[in-house]
Amino acid sequence: MRIPFIGGNWKMNLSLNEAVEFVEEIKDKLPVASEVETAIAASPLFLESMIKHNAESPLKITAENCFYKNSGAYTGEVSPLALSEMGVGYVIVGHSERRRYFNETNDIINKKVHAVLNNRMIPIICCDETMGRVDNGDHFSWVVSQVTAAVQGVSEEDAAKIIIAYEPSWAIGTGHSASTAEAEEGCYLIRQTLADIYSDEVADQIRVLYGGSVTEKNIKSLMKENDIDGVLAGKASLSASEFVKLANFKM
Ligand code: PEP
Repeated sequence: MRIPFIGGNWKMNLSLNEAVEFVEEIKDKLPVASEVETAIAASPLFLESMIKHNAESPLKITAENCFYKNSGAYTGEVSPLALSEMGVGYVIVGHSERRRYFNETNDIINKKVHAVLNNRMIPIICCDETMGRVDNGDHFSWVVSQVTAAVQGVSEEDAAKIIIAYEPSWAIGTGHSASTAEAEEGCYLIRQTLADIYSDEVADQIRVLYGGSVTEKNIKSLMKENDIDGVLAGKASLSASEFVKLANFKM
């Protein structure tokens, strides 16, 4: 049984005060983690304060990115070891904005996946897809190549813990979500790819999320699909009341 995962990705938004207020506001309104896991990914500058104010809450405080080395002469980078020491449990890796604006390659993303796992955290690996690729008809092979590269060298035991998010770039921040059928098709493809790399048993344990303009309006139909185990929401996660509605999608 895969526990549904409802994640938010704030990107470079909100202030420190707003971040702490958000955590305080939602702490009594979330489902228990054994029924639905909830997570918010925020700026590394906010994480320590958020963790302090989150003591009684099931919310998983999550990082949006990290470097692939624990320490060294890497000015400005975020150490995965430091994140782990702070009590961060999940790290988003390979978001399409990191791939596009910061030139993150499949190789870099694979190194980050290993660094996160080596520090006993769980990577939320994002795979994107562009409209140009849909037009060319190679969007599915693009998704498969990203998944395959991201998990290269990851053991079966670790693979069972990871989370993968299918996030078509054309649906991110556009207000135009993929249809439920398109989202399921992408998530199914990712699970089949994982089954080919590992086994059906391992692929059945891995949570696959959909991300791209998820709101309280489309979450229920997305969550009814077989291969969609949760969502990663950007804009909708910036409002505490909206995030609470996403987290309580079963009600
Ligand atoms: C995202 O940034 O991962 C995302 C899915 O954003 P939005 O929900 O705003 O489309």
